[in-house]
Amino acid sequence: MSSVAITEIGSLVTNDSTLGDGALGIRENAAIVIEHGKIAWIGDSSNAPAVDAAHSVAGKTLIPGFVDSHAHMVFAGDRSEEFAARMRGESYSAGGIKTTVAATRSASNHELRENTSRLVAEMHRAGITTFESKSGYALDVENEARTLQIANEFTTETTFLGAHVVPSEFADRADEYVALVAGEMLNAAKPHAKWIDVFCDRGAFDVDQARTILSAGVAAGLWPRIHANQLANIGAVKLAVELDCASADHLTHLSDEDIDLLAGSNSVATLLPGAEFSTRSAYPDARRLFAAGVSVALATDCNPGSSFTTSMAFCMAVAVRDMGFSPEQALLAATSGGAKALRRTDIGGLSLGMKADFSVLNAPSYIHLSYRPGVDLIDSTWIDGKNVYQR
Ligand SMILES: [Zn+2]
Repeated sequence: MSSVAITEIGSLVTNDSTLGDGALGIRENAAIVIEHGKIAWIGDSSNAPAVDAAHSVAGKTLIPGFVDSHAHMVFAGDRSEEFAARMRGESYSAGGIKTTVAATRSASNHELRENTSRLVAEMHRAGITTFESKSGYALDVENEARTLQIANEFTTETTFLGAHVVPSEFADRADEYVALVAGEMLNAAKPHAKWIDVFCDRGAFDVDQARTILSAGVAAGLWPRIHANQLANIGAVKLAVELDCASADHLTHLSDEDIDLLAGSNSVATLLPGAEFSTRSAYPDARRLFAAGVSVALATDCNPGSSFTTSMAFCMAVAVRDMGFSPEQALLAATSGGAKALRRTDIGGLSLGMKADFSVLNAPSYIHLSYRPGVDLIDSTWIDGKNVYQR
């Protein structure tokens, strides 16, 4: 049995209030011991037990790995021109997805793997240790299954999003497309997917269509989550709560009733600051959610159209600056909040027995993640106690 210690941690964030101060469970001058990829011991660095290998981080900060519960990682093509046009004043609609669909359908498996692999490496450099990945850039039976199969090579948190938009070949036949997604496409996708998701919004799928698709997914053994209230409030949050979705994501437009519903549910509110940033939209006010006691997650929404970032720290900085998060709330949302949005209890914190997924920050405190926007503070990233990125 090999045991590894990380010692001389200046500030250790555990997210476990029984292990340290406050909701973040912070300890100073700490050490952790990892055995079998899990946290086996936490205490003062000076008391660390004998281990097979020890790494000193010389006073730096160690935080739980970021859990990115909303990303779209398998695609081909480039939409930088669309971004530039939008920044010149054109408005965002759901239709730009079709550009990526055409490129993804014609891309080889090799090309899709290479693209995904580059993004996964970016995520490790950004301190993300678990990520979810949605399909939805193929929108036909064969290619939705193909892109999910590729996503599965990189993460267990795979999501079937055949209902991203109605593809152009079904332009006037949305209900036929809904039947395809809930039938043949779901059947082809389900061996490669854990979750099912629908973009339930103006210009995408309405509440009844979303209910049909999500219910079919649940009947097939997938777990539901939903894109809700990004462009307009058409009732997607109500549906999320009705179907016990693990998470309702975006929530740019929220009524007080939506917030009460979320507060009384097991659905996490996942906010995606990168999407508002990159579409120059108004930010939701997270203080309303926190005040009502709603569980909140932050995720990158990494995708080529509306949020092409893998930087969780950037999302946290925007959430703190423009959405009313405190730095503490932002870190919790990006770690334990993300884990809750994926219904995982083995990640999102560093309690004893949890996965040894963490990153080391070149900073004296986690606050620097939002205090120093745009500065890469990640010194190293570890998954299951193994070093996957070292600066
Ligand atoms: Zn999305």
